[in-house]
Amino acid sequence: MSEGGGGGRSERIEGGRGDAGRGVSPWTPAHSNALLQQRVLGVNFHAIAPDNRAEVTQRLRLAADLGTSLDPDQPVQAQTPTIFVAFYDGYRDTGLFGAELCADLGIRAYFFPIFASADPQRAQLSDADLAQIATAHELCFHSNNHFGADQVTPDTVSREVLGPIERLRAITGQVPRIAAWRGGTRFDDQTLGDRTIRDLGVRFQVSNWSVERIPEARPT
Ligand SMILES: [Zn+2]
Repeated sequence: MSEGGGGGRSERIEGGRGDAGRGVSPWTPAHSNALLQQRVLGVNFHAIAPDNRAEVTQRLRLAADLGTSLDPDQPVQAQTPTIFVAFYDGYRDTGLFGAELCADLGIRAYFFPIFASADPQRAQLSDADLAQIATAHELCFHSNNHFGADQVTPDTVSREVLGPIERLRAITGQVPRIAAWRGGTRFDDQTLGDRTIRDLGVRFQVSNWSVERIPEARPT
C-alpha cells in the first residue's frame, strides 16, 4: 500500500514450496499461509494527470474483475482476492474522476484527503465534494498537512488529528474507520499521532504493507 508512488501493485506472496536446499530462511510456509488468508490487491493513486486517465480506467477495470472491494470488518475471504483502491491527499480533479469511475465499475474506494493544500497548482476536494464522494465511497483520515504519525506533537495534535477527524465526522456523521499517515507507517503506540487516532475511535490503519486492525490500548 505504498504512499510514495502513484501506481498500483499486487500484494501476493507465493507459498514457500520448493525452497528446500536453499539454506535456512526465517520465512516459513506458515508465514505465507497467514498472509495468504486474505489476498489484497492494493491500487493507490495520488494526482492523476488527464493524459493518464485512459490508462487508469483500464487498470481499474481489470482490478474490478479480480475481486470485490476489501471491507476490513468483514470476515477473511480465503478463496477470492479483494481489491483496495485508494486515492490519497485530496486532489480535487483526481478525486472526482476517481469517485465517478470507481462507482461506475462497482468499486467502493477509499479516500484519504488532507485539508491543507497539497499542491498550489491543484485544488483540494471541498467538504461538499467529500460529502458527495461519501455517498459511494469511504472517507479516511490522513491528517491536515500531510503529517507522519511521528511528526504529531502536543502542539500540532489538535490541528493535525482532532481537527481533520472532527471535520470528517461532520461530513459523514461518523468517525473515520481507517487512517493512513504520510510515509505509510504501521500502528505504533509510541507515537502521539497513533495513540490519538486510536483514542478517537479510528479502528484500522493502512500502511505500506498492510491493512491492520488497530490494537486496543494496553492497560496502564
Ligand atoms: Zn499522502
